[in-house]
Amino acid sequence: MSETLSLHAVHHLYDKRLAQSTKPFRARGATVPRCKYCMVNSHLCICAHRPVVESNAAFMLVMYDDEVLKPSNSGRLIADVFDECFAFIWSRTNPDPDMLAVLGDERYQPYVIFPEEYAPERVATEITLESGKKPLFILLDGSWNEAKKMFRKSPYLNQFPLLSIQPEQASRFTLRESAKDNQLATAEVAARIVDLFGESANAQTLDLWFDVFREHYLTGKKQRTLPIPGALDRLAAHLNATETQ
Ligand SMILES: [Zn+2]
Repeated sequence: MSETLSLHAVHHLYDKRLAQSTKPFRARGATVPRCKYCMVNSHLCICAHRPVVESNAAFMLVMYDDEVLKPSNSGRLIADVFDECFAFIWSRTNPDPDMLAVLGDERYQPYVIFPEEYAPERVATEITLESGKKPLFILLDGSWNEAKKMFRKSPYLNQFPLLSIQPEQASRFTLRESAKDNQLATAEVAARIVDLFGESANAQTLDLWFDVFREHYLTGKKQRTLPIPGALDRLAAHLNATETQ
C-alpha cells in the first residue's frame, strides 16, 4: 500500500478485534496473502487508488462481532471514501462508551438506516437537519440476520429516526453466497443514502469504488486476470469528470 495512506476507523477496529481473537480468524480463502487494508489479494491491492471525497455526511458503522475481520465486508469501503466515518463493534449489554459519546454529540443528527417495515412509526421521509448539524448515518453491518438482531437489541438507537431506501435495483454483485437475492451490500446502501442526501457525485464515487473492490476481490478469489477496461477505469473517468465540473 502507499505509504501516505492514512488509516481509518475500520482499519483500527480490525486490529482491535483481531487482538481479541482467542484463535486465529479463518476467513474463507485465509491461505491467500491479502493486503490487510483493502483485503484484496496482495498482488491486486487497490489501496493506492482509494478516492476520498468532500462530504457533509458522517457515518457510523456498528459491526457485528467479527464482521470487521471478513475480507468480503463492504462497510470498510465507506470509511475509505468518507473522512468522517466511525466504526464500533456492537454489544447489546456493553455498548462502547466512545460510540455512545458520538451518538450524543451535538454536532451530529443521527439516522438509523434500516428497512421501514421494522419500525414504521420512526420513519423519516426526508433528511431535515437542525442548523449547524451534520447527518450521522448509522449502518448496522453484518449478515441480514445479524443486522436484524442488532436493530432489535440496541435500545440506545431507539430514539433516532429511521431512513429507508427502496432498492430499485438488485445488488450489483453478491460477495457472499449466503446473501439473499436483491440484498444490497452495506456500501451500496450507504451510496443510496448519500444520493438521497443530495450528494450524487459522492454516491457514484462510492458505487464505483465498490465495483473496483468487487472486481479485484473476485479476480483474486478466482485466480483470474483483471478485465480491461475495468472498474478502475470507470472510477478514474468519473473522478476526472467531477473534477472538471
Ligand atoms: Zn491494499
